[in-house]
Amino acid sequence: MRVLLTFILMTLTTSGAQAQSIDLFTKDTTELAPGVYTFGAFSARSLFVVTDDGVITTDPVSTKNAADMRAAIAEVTDQPVKYVIYSHQHWDHVLGGQIFKNEGATFISHDKCIPHFLRHPNDELVMPDKTVASDSEITLGGKTLKLMYFGPNHGDCMLVMQVEGTDVLYINDLVTPYSVGLGFMPDYDPGEWVRTLNELEAMDTWNTFTGGHGVPEAPKAAMNQRRRYMEALMQAVLDGIADGKRLEGLYDTIELPKEFQEMRGYDTHIRRSAERIYHYYTMGW
Ligand SMILES: [Zn+2]
Repeated sequence: MRVLLTFILMTLTTSGAQAQSIDLFTKDTTELAPGVYTFGAFSARSLFVVTDDGVITTDPVSTKNAADMRAAIAEVTDQPVKYVIYSHQHWDHVLGGQIFKNEGATFISHDKCIPHFLRHPNDELVMPDKTVASDSEITLGGKTLKLMYFGPNHGDCMLVMQVEGTDVLYINDLVTPYSVGLGFMPDYDPGEWVRTLNELEAMDTWNTFTGGHGVPEAPKAAMNQRRRYMEALMQAVLDGIADGKRLEGLYDTIELPKEFQEMRGYDTHIRRSAERIYHYYTMGW
């Protein structure tokens, strides 16, 4: 099964496209900065921060993943998990946190996640104990985790995170390195998403990031590529509309430059991505 689901990722190198075999499920613990780790696999990834007074983790992902992450944390520290921070509301990141609740962790999300959680309850979701409404931070054991809110983008409750003093961001789902991402999601705002990526790119306080999926660590150039992909997609849809194309006639003929065609998921998602952008421009949502 695992072999069947292993697939080929096209990554961009300075010498051009290069094929790499990617294992979706083999989990790693990768130290990004002193005491700052990413845990997970290509299919889903989280952050945990080890301090002298406990551990802060982000998304549990699932009951199974949370148990695996708890074991991975125990490999590097005896400290208890004190906080769990939800990056945003999507179930492929926030479920399965009970193991951390059982040891007394405080769960935190942006307050705009709460209506989503109430409207679409899930037995595997631990509801947040606290919420934040804007930029915030958590200090524990001498380390400070910054929670940054950029408004609506991939949903409306996304928190980007950074441990103060490091040059690594945790950016869940706004960028999956070298990937186009899902084509059609009703709760994302393409214009605000591009604005957010521009604001993140303009920050000079980071050089690499770890995402909610994909490789453990990627350079800022991977975010730049994703932003340019989205801009190229949006322009291509505008051009199609200007040429009189509508609906399937537009989706079926959309074609972006070769650099973007080589991003993971292009062939699967380009048509649905065009449909999403078409409605953004023709319906206002
Ligand atoms: Zn998401």
